[in-house]
Amino acid sequence: MPGQGIVVVVSGPSGVGKSTLCNTIVAQVPQTMLSVSCTTRSPRPGERDGVEYCFVDPARFQAMVNDEAFVEWAEVYDHRYGTPKRPLVEAVNRGVNVLLDIDTQGAGQIMERFAGAVLVFVTPPSLDALKQRLDRRALDGPDAIRRRLRRAGEEIARFEDYHYLIRNEHLPQAAKELESILLAERARISRVNVDELVDSGLLEPSTMKEIVT
Ligand code: ADP
Ligand code: 5GP
Repeated sequence: MPGQGIVVVVSGPSGVGKSTLCNTIVAQVPQTMLSVSCTTRSPRPGERDGVEYCFVDPARFQAMVNDEAFVEWAEVYDHRYGTPKRPLVEAVNRGVNVLLDIDTQGAGQIMERFAGAVLVFVTPPSLDALKQRLDRRALDGPDAIRRRLRRAGEEIARFEDYHYLIRNEHLPQAAKELESILLAERARISRVNVDELVDSGLLEPSTMKEIVT
């Protein structure tokens, strides 16, 4: 039986590089996946239903809230975003680590439901760099970018609610830090699968004696 997978929340201002970082980690660390949120916002050019998000209308979203189908949900930029419960719980029970790219409101809700969740906050090197990334990404109009920048300060102010902080200046370095966090968390004593240790005889002093003599 594998141990439980780790729930890793990745938050930070829009455009800081969360989805870029999460996708890099999913490609590099086996048994790791990205949670696909539901949202009431419209798809941006290039976004596919069921891949970046599941795009649902407000009535469907509300029905899912009523059915308790989300482990957490929040309103961000006038739209609702939620993490579907079933795929998350099933993956974690199969020993798969799940990355959640969600906002600071959602992070608090996850912490209440998954005591072992790891919370990572990503900051840009500066607000100018953040603006440049939003401009270069060119997926939001000027008004939406201004709104995202205004909200960035409020999001960054919540960094102390998190366990780790990554400054995403140089992407490969930031990705290495996120991967290192995941690998180190996997080795935490509180997550060790005791059955595996017992089965391997490592907790049995008599086995040790037989081998040594
Ligand atoms: P988020 O998911 O946080 O909204 P994205 O992952 O979409 O942000 O990244 C926003 C833009 O910034 C993308 O065009 C991405 O390629 C770019 N980006 C990400 N990390 C860096 C970095 N370290 N340096 C420069 N550009 C970056
Ligand atoms: P975007 O519209 O740029 O994709 O995302 C806007 C914000 O919503 C980002 O801060 C992102 O992390 C957050 N977000 C995306 N999915 C979820 C979710 O399921 N729950 C919560 N609470 N926030 C989400």
